[in-house]
Amino acid sequence: MTSHSLLHTSLPSRINRTVWCCNKNSSYTSSRVEMEKADSFVVDDQELLDKKISSIRNAGPAKLQVIADFDATLTRYWINGRRGQSSHGLLQQGNPEFDVKRHKLHEYYHPLEFSPTISIEEKTKLMEEWWEKSHGLLIEGGLIYSAIKESVSNATIAFREGVVELFEYLEERDVPVLIFSAGLADIIEEVLKQKLHRSFKNVRIVSNRMVFDNDGHLVSFKGKTIHVLNKNEHALDMAAPIHDQSGGIDGPTDDTASVEQRTNVLLLGDHIGDLGMSDGLNYENRIAVGFLNDNIEKSISGYQKSFDIVYLNDASMLGVVDLVSQLCSSGGD
Ligand SMILES: [Mg+2]
Repeated sequence: MTSHSLLHTSLPSRINRTVWCCNKNSSYTSSRVEMEKADSFVVDDQELLDKKISSIRNAGPAKLQVIADFDATLTRYWINGRRGQSSHGLLQQGNPEFDVKRHKLHEYYHPLEFSPTISIEEKTKLMEEWWEKSHGLLIEGGLIYSAIKESVSNATIAFREGVVELFEYLEERDVPVLIFSAGLADIIEEVLKQKLHRSFKNVRIVSNRMVFDNDGHLVSFKGKTIHVLNKNEHALDMAAPIHDQSGGIDGPTDDTASVEQRTNVLLLGDHIGDLGMSDGLNYENRIAVGFLNDNIEKSISGYQKSFDIVYLNDASMLGVVDLVSQLCSSGGD
């Protein structure tokens, strides 16, 4: 097998999809036409993946949980030729002066986030600084709840095809989905509401959550700031049912204890750092699925080593739906 062995017949079975195969000599661009027709993926170690799939299937859905990053994992990276917006990036706080200030912070800190010369300790401090400053600006600039609704309805943001099917399939089997994000919980909830037009009783969000006063003004943020580099420290303590604020009738379907007993994890992310989302868990088996949306040639080898399956080229979620249906099928096939 070459180092770029992709393939496979064992994954997408229900949905008939072409799989892109490449080797060291084939270039990504020459396969572009093919790739646009297919959700291409790379599996570095098929044997290991097969083992994990069968262990998880044997333990059954009662032992399984899904932990997913939000931005560019559940949502698409490209939308009609434009970069999809993130839950932080889409927010227009109804005060142009403060929108500009937050944009300037982005221009300053974003390159530092990806700088190869800054140590992780220093970077962590910088990310904390960035998140706290921009949260401070949201409060100072007088964000009101209705601005969130409006921002989401004007935003360039969309879920990957298959996300609804994935959530529905898991809901029917009482498999919890934890959306773990350094973005903003209130915005993620609004995106779910506006784009999916329904809620899921198995979906919870762990992210930065806003506190509004009775007049709908943002006054503070709950708990410790979750930024890109400390997602792993937060695990389940901030998990809240999605209906918390919308007055839904469903309570949490799983308390933290039972989530901890779900020792098989399917993790979905678009950054290597997303792998840290399962750090707080004592899992037995973990299948990590990565979405490599951009800079494929540069990043593929790192992603391939870190994730069990890597989807390329802003793929749909349909392959993950297939995978989950394998994980939840009761043996024999
Ligand atoms: Mg992401």
